[in-house]
Amino acid sequence: MVFVITGPSGVGKGTLIRALLQQVPELELSVSATTRHARPGETQGVHYHFLADEEFQRRFDAGEFVESAGYSGRRYGTLRSELEDRVQAGRSVVLEIELQGARQVRETVPDAVQIFIAPPTPDTLRLRLVGRGTDSSDDIERRLGVAESELAARDEFAYVVVNDRLEEAVARLVEIVRGEMTGRPVPSTE
Ligand code: ADP
Ligand code: 5GP
Repeated sequence: MVFVITGPSGVGKGTLIRALLQQVPELELSVSATTRHARPGETQGVHYHFLADEEFQRRFDAGEFVESAGYSGRRYGTLRSELEDRVQAGRSVVLEIELQGARQVRETVPDAVQIFIAPPTPDTLRLRLVGRGTDSSDDIERRLGVAESELAARDEFAYVVVNDRLEEAVARLVEIVRGEMTGRPVPSTE
């Protein structure tokens, strides 16, 4: 199974997915490629495959991406090599990607389970991005600019998880994923 997890920057996708992978250890995370620079603490091949612009373009031209998108001045994409072997072997994979990529996956992998992570209020995003302390103020403004259209797309998703209290959001995400994996889907609204 393929699980697509989307939501605006700062909503808590990375935090929720870390907890999800601990609680559902049979899930595997697809490591994306990006042309952005590594943040302190991020490791090549673990958090991302960090690629130079030319290398990203070469792989794009060679058809190596399942989906890709431009975001905040950088490119991001899911490599076929991260997805196809695992899916063929019957393993379950999580993609943490932005909206344009989620829409592409909806076309190419129609049975992927699409989950949108929403903030309790729009103001939460700024507070969390500033609190995370990893992005410049220009980058935060760019990310918040994109967030408006991302938030408007939540109804496109089979599931919406509001990340207000972390433990509750993790529990809901685990419930959704386990429900889908065992063929007993939970109701899509909270
Ligand atoms: P994203 O991956 O969606 O950009 P992160 O997982 O990096 O978001 O989370 C952004 C910031 O918000 C981090 O500093 C994280 O610790 C914090 N955060 C995540 N979830 C919550 C929550 N439920 N309540 C408060 N802070 C949170
Ligand atoms: P960040 O720079 O904060 O790590 O990621 C910025 C945005 O890019 C986030 O919304 C994240 O989900 C998204 N992203 C990460 N990897 C991919 C990918 O492989 N494809 C797409 N389309 N988006 C991605």
